[in-house]
Amino acid sequence: MGKKILISGASVAGNTTAWWLSRHGFNVTVIEKAPGFRDGGQNVDVRGAGREVLRKMGLEQAALALSTGEAGTDWVDEHDNPIARFAVDDIGDGPTAELEIMRGDIARMIYEPARQHCTYRFDETITSVQQDASGVTVQFHNSPPDRYDMVIIAEGVGSPTRELIFPGENKPKWMDITIAYFAIPKTAADGAFARQYNTLGGIGATLKPGRGNTVHVYLGMQKKPEGENQWPAERQKQFLQERFSNAGWHFPRILEGMHKTDDFYFDVLRQVRMSRWHANRVVLTGDAAWCATPLSGIGTTLAVVGGYVLAGELSKTDDLPAALAAYERVMRPFVKEGQGVPKIVPRMLWPHTRAGLALLRGVMHIAGKPLVRKIFSKLFLRDSEKVGLADYPGKVGG
Ligand SMILES: Cc1cc2nc3c(=O)[nH]c(=O)nc-3n(C[C@H](O)[C@H](O)[C@H](O)COP(=O)(O)OP(=O)(O)OC[C@H]3O[C@@H](n4cnc5c(N)ncnc54)[C@H](O)[C@@H]3O)c2cc1C
Repeated sequence: MGKKILISGASVAGNTTAWWLSRHGFNVTVIEKAPGFRDGGQNVDVRGAGREVLRKMGLEQAALALSTGEAGTDWVDEHDNPIARFAVDDIGDGPTAELEIMRGDIARMIYEPARQHCTYRFDETITSVQQDASGVTVQFHNSPPDRYDMVIIAEGVGSPTRELIFPGENKPKWMDITIAYFAIPKTAADGAFARQYNTLGGIGATLKPGRGNTVHVYLGMQKKPEGENQWPAERQKQFLQERFSNAGWHFPRILEGMHKTDDFYFDVLRQVRMSRWHANRVVLTGDAAWCATPLSGIGTTLAVVGGYVLAGELSKTDDLPAALAAYERVMRPFVKEGQGVPKIVPRMLWPHTRAGLALLRGVMHIAGKPLVRKIFSKLFLRDSEKVGLADYPGKVGG
């Protein structure tokens, strides 16, 4: 058996890394703080290099079969009349990606094969990590300590173990957007196109077609962060209720659905900015290393590609510092691209004043014109192919 590796976090980044490491013959254990596999979450996009990695895993077709089938995005006014339309079959990857999939579906699609070859332990977290020249001793909340060759932290944007090992090193870039994701029942008004609506006061929402009888809601607001991500879910919902209840459009049914949903995810968007991703035998990946936020459109793509590159570079050499340096060399430019959303963008997309709203709608109207659509989409989106993917031949299973 190859080197013994612990991964903390069983979502997209952790599962992809586990999948590839086991393919390369490593002995992998994954721990996850949730009591079981976490299925929740709304639509995420997989683009460019992310699709390429899924293809290499033989999972692209399965992912396409699970895709939500969103036909494109309409920018709409208060009567749902389109100001601009970005159809997928017209422009390819645009505001709607060619592969839109539920976060839980993609995480599970990778978890199911990964757990055939890796050990998973739920309801578990790391309490301390001690490194020495030959390995890492890890203490756990619920089980006896164990020793590993290395530890990979894939715990998402708020990763507590990152804070334990790299205290104060994350210099988050707050995007001044607070967002909630949840699903509500579908009605006759909901078609195959996502609808993006913004109104005065820096608030707006996206309604995205889901599978079955659901519509997925992204409820967003432009404001400075005030620690809302630390509040209990009921307080977060009350906060949204107060902000959106008089805003017209579909907000009454959205709020009604929000109070009934059991799959509510709330976040105050911030990028994770780390000047290094590893400390000796501990390495960060996915949102824990470089969260680019949903504003980038490539957060899940970065997580999938990061797992592939990290496992691949570890498979190439026994020289751990060299492997981790190579991982960083490949991923840094791609992460820089993902995080390159200008800070003005949230303010432009979630305007507060009548003038700002008129400007946004005017710009979107022009952006939706046939000749401009494709150029605008490229300008608006981060480049999901800005990474050179090497081939890392697997030792197990060909
Ligand atoms: C439940 C959920 C719902 C989401 N919904 C959306 C959505 O609707 N839209 C969107 O754009 N993005 C969503 N995201 C974020 C999205 O999954 C990520 O931005 C992206 O896919 C990168 O994934 P990641 O694996 O790096 O991080 P994440 O997907 O955030 O996963 C981190 C994992 O680590 C686990 N974890 C956290 N702390 C610890 C700890 N101390 N010990 C062990 N495990 C820990 C978490 O439970 C989680 O399973 C969601 C994430 C989660 C966890």
